[in-house]
Amino acid sequence: MKGRVIRKIKGFYYVNSDNNIYECKLRGALKIKNDKLNCIVGDIVEFDEKEQAICKVFERENYLDRPLISNIDYAGITFAIKSPDFDYTNFQKVLLNVYDRNITPFVIFTKVDLISDTELKEFTDNFHMVFSTLELDVFPVIATDDTALSDLREFIAGKITAFSGPSGVGKSTLINNLLNEDILRTGDISEKTDRGKHTTTESRIFELDNSTLIVDTPGFSSLDFPKLKEKTALSRLFPDFQDYSVLCKFRDCTHINEPECGVKSALENAKIPKLRYEFYLYSYNNIFREVKK
Ligand code: GDP
Ligand code: ZN
Repeated sequence: MKGRVIRKIKGFYYVNSDNNIYECKLRGALKIKNDKLNCIVGDIVEFDEKEQAICKVFERENYLDRPLISNIDYAGITFAIKSPDFDYTNFQKVLLNVYDRNITPFVIFTKVDLISDTELKEFTDNFHMVFSTLELDVFPVIATDDTALSDLREFIAGKITAFSGPSGVGKSTLINNLLNEDILRTGDISEKTDRGKHTTTESRIFELDNSTLIVDTPGFSSLDFPKLKEKTALSRLFPDFQDYSVLCKFRDCTHINEPECGVKSALENAKIPKLRYEFYLYSYNNIFREVKK
């Protein structure tokens, strides 16, 4: 039988298969001494129902190590629309990290109660224009009001969603409301310094139900750039560049100074928004520490 590990307690693995939960041990051959990574929450496994043993762990699509979890279906990138004001650069940093970890992003805008409907429409129209080819699902929410979260609940049902976003945007409030319990610490934004200090310091995994997990990840909220070895690896983290980078004359084109660059001509023809290309340059310079114009 095949299922997904949704919980791990003291050597027991709880596997969800067709919404039934099976308590299993790891079969001997899967146990490698001191290896936390043998089998983790999120893993898709094959197990023997009679023996109550996991006999195979399937290859992981992705994983996080803080907290340890695999096969994350979605990264719910959470940003406030106001207070703190939405910042395109910070948002793109989180997005870059999400793509680097091979997770599918979607977007939650919190605090929509702080702006008018017209302002919200203007904002989301612009957002969709910039990121149109990424086809991001977008959920404007009032994190403090759990009645307004039904679309989001429906979207994440049966999935593992890692919520990520900078401090103060309402991530804890949102997760609390999704769980209908006051387990995560929430704080007042005025109590926080704007640099460094986060209210949610612990990484945690929560079960909404047997098949829906919510992960609170400080991991990619840190706004650091991913570590990349190859210069060509960066543009692969810009899925909206892919249709154009295949047109570049040089296979290892960095889309900066090379002639006959598909990305730069797409930029000139407004197929790639200036904001996206500028963020690409900014990331390139930060990751490879080489300032070029
Ligand atoms: P976190 O640091 O992202 O976990 O943010 P918190 O959940 O601690 O929320 C920060 C502050 O924003 C708290 O005072 C919340 O009550 C407030 N807040 C969160 N979401 C919303 C929202 O949708 N609307 C409004 N008006 N305030 C919100
Ligand atoms: Zn190029």
